[in-house]
Amino acid sequence: MTALARILADRIGHDGPMTVAAYMAECLLHPQYGYYTTRPPFGAKGDFITAPEISQMFGELVGLCLAQSWLDQGAPARFTLAELGPGRGTLMADILRATRGVPGFHAAMQVTLHEASPALRAVQAKTLAGFAPVWIDDIATLPDQPLFLVANEFFDALPIHQYVKQGGRWHERVVGLAAGRLAFGLTPDASQAGIGDRFAQDPEGSVVETCPAATPYITAIKARLSRHGGLALLVDYGGWRSKGDTLQALKAHAFADPLAEPGRADLTAHVDFEVLAGDWPARHYTTQGAFLTALGIAARAERLAQSLTGVARENHLAAHRRLTEPAEMGSLFKVLALAGPDAPPPAGFA
Ligand code: SAH
Repeated sequence: MTALARILADRIGHDGPMTVAAYMAECLLHPQYGYYTTRPPFGAKGDFITAPEISQMFGELVGLCLAQSWLDQGAPARFTLAELGPGRGTLMADILRATRGVPGFHAAMQVTLHEASPALRAVQAKTLAGFAPVWIDDIATLPDQPLFLVANEFFDALPIHQYVKQGGRWHERVVGLAAGRLAFGLTPDASQAGIGDRFAQDPEGSVVETCPAATPYITAIKARLSRHGGLALLVDYGGWRSKGDTLQALKAHAFADPLAEPGRADLTAHVDFEVLAGDWPARHYTTQGAFLTALGIAARAERLAQSLTGVARENHLAAHRRLTEPAEMGSLFKVLALAGPDAPPPAGFA
């Protein structure tokens, strides 16, 4: 048993089973034993690798998309350049390098980061030294000005609730104890909380997930966009009204049992983009592959390949395929753009 498994088993022994959301929050962000608090999870030696860590092209193209939208919206003299869950700061660093040549962009931006892990904050401070980033703990304190924001693999790390349909009613899935070990169960009482009637027609045995933790983020983003304009690019794996049990644990680049080693494996769930978009009219949605292709990744890849030889060139070409091909990240990952109500459509969405 991991130290965190023992802590959680004790707590469940006292207080009874905990929701999947509470379990996920403890596994990821427990101050002492949480996954993000204790380890650098990314890269070849870590448990998973993200798009900006695969290739600089990802951040460059995201940066150009944001900068183009900033220009299209009249190049506001002050704006927030924000990132949610910046990891090692690689994506923001690539965005900043790619936009260096956009006149006025750097002078107008205030780099603003939202990061729960103190260890990763320290890494970000190093990577982004020279750009005077500020960190905000509470998303409601995003400055009240135009907002250009990116979040890559952030929403998939927010805790989800799971519900299972039994006897025609939804019961919340919980983590309890069976023979002293963590085990999934269901609350005996049915609950409609937070599900609404979107899934009323789903058959017996169906599993649905909700992510109330995403609401404050989406509310804060849309409030800035509607008052001042801007663009939010939300990149993640998931779908439009994604369904089923998508809770997954990753350890050393392989799937693991989500209950086996709390705090030592990454836990994520698919993002339901329909919920994030809500009734926002200025929204655009496509796959990561289509987005990067429309922004010109093929030409950029070719250009970079010219200066590379041997293994470096092979790796670079593989990275291009990995980001865009349907069998790799190209289709599973989606991009949702929320734009200011009066903004022209952002680049990258055909
Ligand atoms: N965007 C980066 C990292 C993705 S991993 C990349 O693409 O490489 C998820 C990131 O979100 C990590 O930086 C993690 O510490 C942060 N994070 C997870 N849950 C969070 C929360 N509730 N609040 C703030 N940051 C969080």
